[in-house]
Amino acid sequence: MTGRRTATVVGGGIAGLAAAASLLRAGWQVTVLERAAAFGEVGAGVAVTRNGMAALDDVGVGARVRAAGRATSTAGTQDRHGRWLLHLPAPGDDPDPVNRLWGVHRQRLHAALLDAAGDADLLTGAAVVGVTAGDPDGEPASVTWRSGGTEHTRTSDLLVAADGIRSAVRGQLFPRARLRYSGWSSWRAVVDVPGTTDDRFVAVWGPQAEFGTVPIGPGQVYWYGYVRSSEGVRHDDEHAAAVAHFAGWAPHVRATVAGTPPERLMRHDVHHLPGGLGSYARGRTVLVGDAAHAMLPTMGQGANTSLEDGVCVGRLVGGPVAAGTPLADALAAYDAARRPRCRRIARGSLVTARIGAHVPGGWPQAARNAVFRLLPAGLLVDAGARVVRWAPPAAVAGG
Ligand SMILES: Cc1cc2nc3c(=O)[nH]c(=O)nc-3n(C[C@H](O)[C@H](O)[C@H](O)COP(=O)(O)OP(=O)(O)OC[C@H]3O[C@@H](n4cnc5c(N)ncnc54)[C@H](O)[C@@H]3O)c2cc1C
Repeated sequence: MTGRRTATVVGGGIAGLAAAASLLRAGWQVTVLERAAAFGEVGAGVAVTRNGMAALDDVGVGARVRAAGRATSTAGTQDRHGRWLLHLPAPGDDPDPVNRLWGVHRQRLHAALLDAAGDADLLTGAAVVGVTAGDPDGEPASVTWRSGGTEHTRTSDLLVAADGIRSAVRGQLFPRARLRYSGWSSWRAVVDVPGTTDDRFVAVWGPQAEFGTVPIGPGQVYWYGYVRSSEGVRHDDEHAAAVAHFAGWAPHVRATVAGTPPERLMRHDVHHLPGGLGSYARGRTVLVGDAAHAMLPTMGQGANTSLEDGVCVGRLVGGPVAAGTPLADALAAYDAARRPRCRRIARGSLVTARIGAHVPGGWPQAARNAVFRLLPAGLLVDAGARVVRWAPPAAVAGG
């Protein structure tokens, strides 16, 4: 490849914008194709853990996201009556605790990333309908999208598939990969009246459900209620259904759900890619975020690993290729760095679900709670530390 390298990013969510920002920093010319009429995110929060913040720092928006959100920490896990199963100390003077996190409104996180990707060509209303993966040693990648009733095609040196959980690019390049309904659905909302007992992130486990609250700004709390449900079930009054679901739970849970303005409540079924993909690269195409590794939300790592992926596209592909590394080698390095890690975290999310939110009521719930109270907190902190102690890879020298 000679001249300025070109990349087309399909999807302008968290992963796509992080990849675009990282490629721009590596000197690439970047186009982002977003299907929606405007760039944006849903009205919910997200817990950015240390690894996600390290990625945000790498694309220059860590300070902005810290300022836009709320620095807090994981307080631990309670049973549905609000009794601690695991209670982690507040970080105190520790400058770099592993349970540190930042609660952020998703729209503020997305806005920061959009600014970081501001030098890209940012196209909205561009629904990608077909791709050709290209050949790292030959044919460029090609992408076709529809916009305002017209079909457009462009070629580029690199294609980044960042089109989320129902990725059209994954569907075309990995037709055997099957997205599966998890059996769980999630209510989410941002509320102005906290109503929590603790100003830290608290997860509450009950029969086949998990409830969590994360402060995301002054007087703003994000909560989620992850519950067992058949796919596609919807209630005429979702708010009443959520209130009824959590009726027997701790007072702070009931107060938070009851105090939520019904119009703020969202409901999404949770899907995942249980078997993962055999590769995160094909031809000149690299997959990031949910397109690559949609996982259960039970470790809160979907968005955080999406940010990591984005940064790795710039660091392991963009930078090295600009410095002379063959694209095929750079894509292999990306796959080797990302796939084992994301598979481990996706499996960990499944295990966390099985010992946490997915445990049924009755004796299994009581047995799990009894065992959990006996576990040394250090064991679980160490497991979490392996996930969040991540740093962007050093740029690889050109070959
Ligand atoms: C209930 C729930 C709670 C969660 N909580 C957390 C949490 O606390 N912490 C965490 O780290 N993660 C969490 N996650 C996971 C996290 O939300 C996702 O992993 C993350 O948002 C994925 O980002 P993405 O950019 O890959 O996909 P998306 O955010 O879905 O972005 C994909 C983008 O591509 C666009 N697009 C789609 N198709 C096309 C097309 N054909 N052409 C052009 N554009 C297209 C879409 O419009 C969208 O803008 C949660 C997920 C759920 C469901």
